Amino acid sequence: MPFGIKWLRRQREQPKSAPSAEEQFRLLVEGVADYAIYLLAPDGTVTSWNPGAERIKGYRADEIVGQPFSRFFAPDDCAAGLPERILETARAEGRFEGEGVRVRKNGSRFHAHVVINAMKSAEGKLIGFAKVTRDVTERVEAQQSLQRIQEQLAQSQKMEALGQLTGGMAHDFNNMLAVITGAFQLCQRALGRGEQDKAQEYIASGLDGAKRATDLIKRLLAFARQQPLAPTALDANVLLRNMSEILRRTLSGDIELETVLAGGLWPINADQSQVESALVNLAANARDAMPQGGKLTIETANAHLDDRYAAQHVDVPPGQYVLIAVTDTGTGMSPEQAAKAFEPFFTTKTDNRGTGLGLAQVYGFAKQSGGHARIYSELGHGTTVKLYLPRSAIPPADSRPKRSENTPLGSTRETILVVEDEPRVRQLAAEGLRELGYSVIEADGAEAALNLMSQHSNIALLFTDVVMPKVDGRKLADEALRRRPGLKVLFTTGFTKNAIIHGGVLDPNTHFIAKPFTLEELAHKVREAIGR
Ligand code: ADP
Ligand code: MG
Repeated sequence: MPFGIKWLRRQREQPKSAPSAEEQFRLLVEGVADYAIYLLAPDGTVTSWNPGAERIKGYRADEIVGQPFSRFFAPDDCAAGLPERILETARAEGRFEGEGVRVRKNGSRFHAHVVINAMKSAEGKLIGFAKVTRDVTERVEAQQSLQRIQEQLAQSQKMEALGQLTGGMAHDFNNMLAVITGAFQLCQRALGRGEQDKAQEYIASGLDGAKRATDLIKRLLAFARQQPLAPTALDANVLLRNMSEILRRTLSGDIELETVLAGGLWPINADQSQVESALVNLAANARDAMPQGGKLTIETANAHLDDRYAAQHVDVPPGQYVLIAVTDTGTGMSPEQAAKAFEPFFTTKTDNRGTGLGLAQVYGFAKQSGGHARIYSELGHGTTVKLYLPRSAIPPADSRPKRSENTPLGSTRETILVVEDEPRVRQLAAEGLRELGYSVIEADGAEAALNLMSQHSNIALLFTDVVMPKVDGRKLADEALRRRPGLKVLFTTGFTKNAIIHGGVLDPNTHFIAKPFTLEELAHKVREAIGR
């Protein structure tokens, strides 16, 4: 910094006589070596020049004073009239600020950041321009190289993801083709030997392979956001309630399932079967992440994603969404894993247990539906996947299961006693039966059920779960029949009928329906049990 040193030396040489204000100002302008500071006449002629300008532009003051400032522009910028336009802006608006390429005396180029202020006399007449230029080449080049590196990185990540996608597809389809081809060949041989039955078996296994390939294609299309969607207005709470059985079956016994369903939840606009398969995929992942058991929480909430949220996330329009959050207390993911988890065929599961397509479906479906999906995960603690689906402008059509024309109905004179220890399942069954027209009373176990029986003399049917804590459904039915011979009983359980009923033979007056059942099935079974 030669000027800084000069200034210091001068200070030392004249220690006693303090410099005048004018002198101090001159020293300041001379001392600011990082900036080219100079004055221009109203027509753009350079009239004064600081040493910083000399350093940055390479001209000595005596070489440049009296010359037009267009000297510093590249020939094509001059030809395009850039210097004149810049001065015109400063003249009209009092100020110009911008960045561009300028040329040094030796012909080399640099990136300049330029500020020009118009100077006016007390009467408001333009007396010239003050111009400050800074060489920002380093900053601009650093930015450019950073951008280049980011582009290269994005490109290589894209290639890697594409490679993984292609490899994954090739691998999976190869397997399925092997199944199909093998089945055809075996079938051909079997037919050659005249073994019709064997041939049928091979055809079945070939068809199975083809079906698996079809499923794979569905998921790929989901990720590619090209699957045919049939969005309707849905109540996510109702959907989740109706799914509790299938979710429980997806999870293993040592995983606790809790659903926290928000009141006043907005309806969503989405394809029901895709929302369901997204939730099953998330539950399956949670199960795999909790081999030692744990807790799965599914929550719903209204979510207003504002502009700020939207600005932080590429490709999320601000607006009203319904959030379905699925949280597990499992292994969690590292940030690197979480970043890749939505990619198709990304899996950390070995032994062919993972396809890497579960989260790809979730993500692709959310995006295609106009929503979005995010992963929050902490290694060793657990994972939350948040699924945002757009709010529907119209309310859901009656979301309770539809009844067909010939669904047998009941009447309020027919009372059914529903006994089930699981409150949600009981509530669902009771609601369903009420909807079919029956009167329903509910008990959470044998004791409560027998109490109700002593209060109601007109019970038409005892509808009871088989496996219950304390007294099981069979014992309850025995006791109920002892008190009221001829009472009709309908058992239900998730276990198979044979495992429950003695030797698979039902006593007269007792009936059985397997869980899970549809309202339609229940309607028929109940009608059959009570009789017309
Ligand atoms: P897959 O389950 O077939 O592996 P997914 O697309 O469903 O494929 O998930 C991709 C990967 O993301 C998983 O292999 C796993 O590493 C990780 N992952 C997904 N969900 C969870 C979760 N809940 N907890 C921990 N890791 C998860
Ligand atoms: Mg999965």
